[in-house]
Amino acid sequence: MCGIIGYVGEKEIVPLLIDGLKKLEYRGYDSAGICVINENGELECDKKKGGILDLENGVHDKKIKGMIGIAHTRWATHGEPNEINAHPHFDCKKEIAIVHNGIIENYSSLRELLKKEGHVFVSETDSEVVAHLIEKFYAERGDLKESVLKALKIIEGTFGLAIIHKNEKKIIAARRGSPLIIGVGEGEMFVASDVPAILNHTKKVIYLSDNEIAEITKDGYSIENLDGKLIDKKVYDIKWTINQIEKKGFKHFMLKEIFEQPEAIKNALRGRIKDNKIKLTIDLNSEDIGRIIITACGTSWHSSLVGKHFIEKITGIPVEVDYASEFRYRNPLVKPGDVVIVISQSGETADTLAALREAKSKGAKIIGIINVVGSTISREVDSGIYLHAGPEIGVASTKAFTCQITALLLIALMLKQKKSALDVTLLNELFILPEKIQEALKSSDEIRKIAEEFKDSKNFLYLGRGINFPVALEGALKLKEISYIHAEGYPAAEMKHGPIALIDENMPVVFVAPKDSTYEKILSNMEEIKARKGRIIAVTNEDDEKINRLANYVIKVPKVCDELLPIINSIPLQLFAYHLADLKGLDVDKPRNLAKSVTVE
Ligand code: GLU
Repeated sequence: MCGIIGYVGEKEIVPLLIDGLKKLEYRGYDSAGICVINENGELECDKKKGGILDLENGVHDKKIKGMIGIAHTRWATHGEPNEINAHPHFDCKKEIAIVHNGIIENYSSLRELLKKEGHVFVSETDSEVVAHLIEKFYAERGDLKESVLKALKIIEGTFGLAIIHKNEKKIIAARRGSPLIIGVGEGEMFVASDVPAILNHTKKVIYLSDNEIAEITKDGYSIENLDGKLIDKKVYDIKWTINQIEKKGFKHFMLKEIFEQPEAIKNALRGRIKDNKIKLTIDLNSEDIGRIIITACGTSWHSSLVGKHFIEKITGIPVEVDYASEFRYRNPLVKPGDVVIVISQSGETADTLAALREAKSKGAKIIGIINVVGSTISREVDSGIYLHAGPEIGVASTKAFTCQITALLLIALMLKQKKSALDVTLLNELFILPEKIQEALKSSDEIRKIAEEFKDSKNFLYLGRGINFPVALEGALKLKEISYIHAEGYPAAEMKHGPIALIDENMPVVFVAPKDSTYEKILSNMEEIKARKGRIIAVTNEDDEKINRLANYVIKVPKVCDELLPIINSIPLQLFAYHLADLKGLDVDKPRNLAKSVTVE
């Protein structure tokens, strides 16, 4: 999980590569490095532990000039984050430089072999073997692409790679399992792990598929598979503007993305409800479905749990929810007739991709719910829904979560309409949901004040019932991710089977307490907390005297129908986590140890 950018062209190369890395920092950021073929035809390089700014400051004084270069922001898998392990990595003669995203699984045997042949390794990374392996083949053939091709046939594991040789005016890029795109410009070409890195320069993008290798020069590109067969690839026109990706005056991307939710939901619904019917490009017939399995990781797993509630209620089809990482290794009982829904914001989540492939090999029909168009998962599913939520840069997912729930609801309704007419009230509620979210967002300042009160707490408990239990899980996850406060989500009724032992005046409890069939029970749970001096924050759409008496703080949200409660209730919990982390002075968009899209297992 990292960011790669490469450039061939005539622009000033160092600022261009650094700017690209900054746009990719969300992918990983424990160290960074850059390498350019300079005007004397030598490889000139700089690496730094830390963020891109550290690299930028160092590289500035070196005044590196050249037309071909590669750069990398690392999220370590093998070898601690330090300057030596930072990419690019080199061959013995420092003629070849590589940047790598992914994991080389057979690196230790390759390393031993190459060492015996006299290669000298300087880093502890798995990636360095790639440079030495290419060096070995280059000595035989003197052709960079041919040497890379040979190396790729031996390497096991995952990679997005960009490679340069000081004597060749090109970049070789290759992928297996780690995303890589090519940016097509006029008299200049790019390679990158993701679109934001190149969007300042071009909107024309090619998505490399697994086992494809690209040769990129200033004036063009060619793409082949590992057998050397030329491949004609589609060039996509990216619609996102750089302005859409920047912060638009918000302090953090996360806050901007929380406030973008009315628009994001509108976009997720756009064109998909017409004449009280759901129109999706998903080919599913409810009569043929034995059961639905939803598989995902992290926040997407929470949206899956919400989906289970209403898909079962609306369609009568049984739904199972599984962590993708568990599903893929369990030899799951999947058979033809099963529908597997995979959910991933980035469409690159390694475990979800592996789960997809496992389910596909067993004959299940695969439906994707993905935000990033053209991503690996989106290309491997049988059909699916794009969220159209726009780019999500904040590591803690917010708008993707609420849009995923929306997409799941659309799928449930589409399945239902094959049997009977849809509930028009629910459809109308969906239409006005963006306005209700807008309303809920108005509590932001009030929530910041509450966060101020709790910012020194060491632990939190989040409780909810039924369809709102996953909301409690997601609220706790948001807090953990960005404020580093330990928080647990629990079904409210389970509290007395264990967590109640933790309750005292130092254990704040957040209740998701809408006025639904579980409301009275939730109030009883609050009584139990209050009796043990726990402090209560309640999110509710009700304004009765009981909840006002029990809770220390009540955050009001607008009333919506049951299916939409998880969306509206998530808004204050996202804001609470955001404000609390910001008040603690933490780096909200780039929390420690986390990366936005988890493209390693
Ligand atoms: N496995 C490589 C390393 O640890 C690449 C990690 C990454 O994708 O950033 O250096």
